[in-house]
Amino acid sequence: MGAFLFDMSASPQKRRVVLLGSTGSIGTSTLKVARELPDEIEIIALAAHSNVRKLADQALETGVRHVALFDHSGEAELRSLLPPNVKIHLGADGLAELATLADADIVLVAIVGTAGLHPALAAIEAGKDLAIASKEILVMAGEIITAAAAKRGVKLLPVDSEHNAIFQCLDGHRGGEAEVSRLILTASGGPFRTLAPEQISKVTLAQALKHPTWEMGPKITIDSATLFNKGLEMIEARWLFGIGMDRIDVVIHPQSIIHSMVEFTDGSVLAQLSRTDMCFPIQYALTWPRRVKGGLQPLDFPTLSKLEFEAPRNADFPALDLARRAGLTGGTLPAVYNAANEVAVDAFRAEKISFPAIWQCVAAVMDAHSVQHSPDLEAIVTADQRARDQAATLLADLA
Ligand code: NDP
Repeated sequence: MGAFLFDMSASPQKRRVVLLGSTGSIGTSTLKVARELPDEIEIIALAAHSNVRKLADQALETGVRHVALFDHSGEAELRSLLPPNVKIHLGADGLAELATLADADIVLVAIVGTAGLHPALAAIEAGKDLAIASKEILVMAGEIITAAAAKRGVKLLPVDSEHNAIFQCLDGHRGGEAEVSRLILTASGGPFRTLAPEQISKVTLAQALKHPTWEMGPKITIDSATLFNKGLEMIEARWLFGIGMDRIDVVIHPQSIIHSMVEFTDGSVLAQLSRTDMCFPIQYALTWPRRVKGGLQPLDFPTLSKLEFEAPRNADFPALDLARRAGLTGGTLPAVYNAANEVAVDAFRAEKISFPAIWQCVAAVMDAHSVQHSPDLEAIVTADQRARDQAATLLADLA
């Protein structure tokens, strides 16, 4: 089962960080945090998919000696932009080489999608702590990742703001899982929280890309609009905190000030509150177990108008019920949930399918899947690939 993360033994020294997905939204915020806290955080390696120029700029700014580029075709251009003492690693192997660098203390996985899974497992095998933003890899292979981390004694530090909040609420709590009655994930509700059901089918890409409270990469922004992001987070929480799906709830909180809560068996609830700035959970994951002064502006309570809560509209936004079903069933079904969603989001971003077709696609691919329980990595990867193929075929018919 997932580790209950109360170990206070982490080193207080400067942390040497490998940053996978450096050119994205989380990657860019991580570099900002590192810039603000030079005595705490040293970035020693950077990886991206294909954004050669941004990766080169970041490498020059940070002075790293190692970069990885997933897409081999950018190698020559990247070489021309970097000094000779910077080693370029390529492809999936390149990501794993970075994740296992001898100098690294911690690997921050901020790669969108599932390409971060193999480097994450390689990092664990090499005894590196992991800061995880890529929720998709925990959804796909949470049991394998948490078991490997427990076996190797490495820490899994959540970067996702909700899980980081829960982590903070549990930190120092000595009672263990038996004293936790529920984890309550908060959700802004996305841009369509109050939209009439008949309007949801008409939602455009531009509307879905406008999140009311967070600035994020495009995939997670669409996932926030469908509530698949919250569904993925339910399964992510199940593994990070070793809690059954039946004890993971979601509440809509449009202001995004409370980032999540833990309800204990005595009825008391602890919540974590702060401004909507991903730099903070990134900082906390990288400086944990210490709290240090960074760029986060404190909350000004008298000017906060109100904190509101409402139940999610499960029938109009089926992503949460599908996540609960995937998480309760377990086995290969969460990987299928994630894979079908990734394919459907790509199709929606290419303006080939309607917004509700994302839910329809995931539900249909889940229905067609025959679940394998206690799968090994190979079975998960096979289920993931099959789900992608099925989703693509299904969406081609819908397009
Ligand atoms: P972005 O789309 O902004 O960035 C994605 C990053 O992943 C880019 O650096 C991209 O490189 C890199 N990448 C993609 N594929 C590969 C690959 N095969 N190999 C190496 N690098 C790759 O995404 P976000 O930063 O928004 O999200 C990253 C992850 O963090 C997601 O899993 C998301 O769910 C999670 N997350 C994000 C939050 C946010 O606020 N943005 C909040 C909480 C979690 P390139 O630029 O070259 O394409």
